[in-house]
Amino acid sequence: MGEKREFLKALLGSLFLANFPLEALGRKRAVIYRIRYSNTPERTRVVLDCTAEVRRQDIKDHFSGKVLWLDVKNAGAVRKLVRRIKSPLVSEVKVIPINHRRTKVKVVFKESHRFKVFGLRSCAGKPFRIVIDVFPEFVPISCEVRKAPTRVVVIDPGHGGRDPGAVWPPRSRHPRIREKDITLSIALKVRKYLKKHPDIKVVMTRMRDVYVPLLKRAEIAAKACADAFVSIHADSMPNYPDWSGVTVFKASPRLFAKAQKTAKEVAKRVKLCSDVMCWSISPLLINMATTVTFAESSRLAQAIVESLKAHVNDELINGIKDMHRNIVVLKTPGRPAVLIECGFLTNPIDRRRLVKEWYQEEIAKGIAQGIERYLTSLNKVAYAR
Ligand SMILES: [Zn+2]
Repeated sequence: MGEKREFLKALLGSLFLANFPLEALGRKRAVIYRIRYSNTPERTRVVLDCTAEVRRQDIKDHFSGKVLWLDVKNAGAVRKLVRRIKSPLVSEVKVIPINHRRTKVKVVFKESHRFKVFGLRSCAGKPFRIVIDVFPEFVPISCEVRKAPTRVVVIDPGHGGRDPGAVWPPRSRHPRIREKDITLSIALKVRKYLKKHPDIKVVMTRMRDVYVPLLKRAEIAAKACADAFVSIHADSMPNYPDWSGVTVFKASPRLFAKAQKTAKEVAKRVKLCSDVMCWSISPLLINMATTVTFAESSRLAQAIVESLKAHVNDELINGIKDMHRNIVVLKTPGRPAVLIECGFLTNPIDRRRLVKEWYQEEIAKGIAQGIERYLTSLNKVAYAR
């Protein structure tokens, strides 16, 4: 299609552009012919496809304001390319040909972020590439030392806005049941119960049907200096329609080991404090912080499971499971976090009760009381010193 035509045009262009010094070295001149991008929770990756190799030493980068400029030597462009980027970090990329041996690339960031630029050789059917990875920059926050016994919990209703989560019927354009509505409804009920407690402050990652990127959710937790983070979901397991009930997930030990690296990155930007101490950025303390978080996440999960069993038919409580998937919100240092799957839309009985007020109330009561128990236990620990 269009892309293929662009590639052929670029290839032809590169053959016709005479550049004797380069060819004398046995290297073909590169032509940039396409802008692509992808998003993961950790980064946005912008890829510029080229007809030949561009060496890193031929790329000069310059960052000013919110704009990253790349000055690429020994590379032309098929024409001026512009691409709007749907990402929490980057808004637009432009490839501007200066002449056939020099091209400028303009990457517009949404805020000031960290970035890495490198080249990739052609392999496995993929062309030569210039890659720009953009990572989020956390705002430095110093958590005020809170006066005990005030505690902060962040409640995170999963999905929202253009991300409906699981839906029923599956792949339907106008589904009758959407995970994003169930998560918001249960989360607001949890908030209602917790607000009755004078010493607990509830921060929500969303109050309405809006899309909130994962990193934004992690940032909200960091800025709130939360003592606990609770993410609420309702799963879908098409291959296991008999799976049902409530499951509380915490990060697996393996994920936590991997998380230490991310933790260091996050902690460089976020000063982490509890009311007994602040984590500085020394690696030893970060290791301590992640170990503490790991143990604390288990305690939080335990408290929630126990009180869920008291409020919901306990046969419906699947207990605690380890999350192996790389979930950003489960691995912030110094911040115990759990993810609760309230049920399965693929199970007919779960599906029916998940949309019912009474069932949502039962689950919300269970979650709220578990959080309350956990948060009050923190005060006991602090005062016992
Ligand atoms: Zn979900």
